[in-house]
Amino acid sequence: MTPEGERRADLAIQDGRIAGIGTIGDAAKVIDATGRLVLPGCVDLHTHLASTPTWTPLDDFERGTRAAIAGGVTTVVSMVYQEEGSLRRGIERGLRDASRSLADFAFHVVATDPSEAAMAELPALVREGHAGLKVFMVSPRYVERRDDYRALLRAAAEAGALVAVHAEDHAIVAARTAELHAAGRTSVLHFPESRPVEAEETAVREAVALATSTGAAMYLVHLSSRRALAALREGKRHARVFGETRPLYLYLTRERFSRPDAALWVGQPPLRDGEDVAAVWAALAEGTLDTVGTDHIPHPRAAKLAPGLSFDRIPPGVANLETLLPMLYSEGVRGGRLTITRMVEVLAAGPARVGGMYPRKGALALGSDGDVVVFDPDARRTIRATDMHSACDYDPYEGWEVTGWPETVLSRGEIVFERGKLAGPPGRGKLVPRAPYPA
Ligand SMILES: [Zn+2]
Repeated sequence: MTPEGERRADLAIQDGRIAGIGTIGDAAKVIDATGRLVLPGCVDLHTHLASTPTWTPLDDFERGTRAAIAGGVTTVVSMVYQEEGSLRRGIERGLRDASRSLADFAFHVVATDPSEAAMAELPALVREGHAGLKVFMVSPRYVERRDDYRALLRAAAEAGALVAVHAEDHAIVAARTAELHAAGRTSVLHFPESRPVEAEETAVREAVALATSTGAAMYLVHLSSRRALAALREGKRHARVFGETRPLYLYLTRERFSRPDAALWVGQPPLRDGEDVAAVWAALAEGTLDTVGTDHIPHPRAAKLAPGLSFDRIPPGVANLETLLPMLYSEGVRGGRLTITRMVEVLAAGPARVGGMYPRKGALALGSDGDVVVFDPDARRTIRATDMHSACDYDPYEGWEVTGWPETVLSRGEIVFERGKLAGPPGRGKLVPRAPYPA
């Protein structure tokens, strides 16, 4: 199964790479995939598995990639943070953390200090395969140093680094948050009001304008609303901008925020309404959105539900690596919203292309890495946190009935997951050097 279509064939893997497609003769090991779908391993361009000097994720590279592999995600890109002014230090920390990874990996470095020194680091980092930056437009720092960030984007364009962007407008979010606090409306029920759709749309428009003026290739992460998607669709006509959504915006609406345990679904931006959900599906089907990334960053139930937390202090993010593929298959393909070739595009080929890893990753093609998911389209599962490989003690889709689940997963030709059991040792994952974008 590839974005080009479906065919019945044998797949031969030799020395970790796909060496033949068609009718294959003898092999040292044969996996019978009769009645199964054979998909390229998924590529998730958006995770938070690396630590920072002040924070260790609940799902680190080892835990997180156990969940990834069990869910058919064979390549993960993690955020790392600029450290003591240096982008390279952030990467170095990521590499240390990823030495426990079961999946292949790469990084985006979050630029928290867009200094001349940081810009000077870019060409060498890109040459070494670290061709990704991230900018949080929602942070106060972004507003204070807009000109420096613009210069950083120019430097990224010249060096060929993709710039991932968290697109929510700081001024709007800060003003709404202050108003709600002043009115004493600080419970989680008010979280969606604090980060309105206008904040996302405004930031997407600004990002598109920046992509045009600086020439940077930009990747707008976790888009959630029809207005933001309309801005992206328009921007794609003249700028190099790509769009990602994340699973939360496909399956859940802001109704969740009337529940007492609403904090369990807090992520930024917030869950939207039903029309937004429909627009996200449509944008995924038609190609306005290029990828689905998980933004995997779970926090324990107790941390999300800690008493007295105002809506802006709830740790944002959920677990999603293990359910990314099966839920998109079940709700999208079986649900009639997405063709299977489109699903393969947005989970594998698309993110590999946007991330500069195609066709080594994201493809079932001669010479590509032997990253393969043998997927049972009829397997029925009920999602339970207790069955998941994440360290998190709840799942955002607890109790959801899903049809279709990965049966066997190969990474560079090695069986790393088979019938419910992980096989690869921590540390088997390798860095995937990312190709630069032409200036
Ligand atoms: Zn994120």
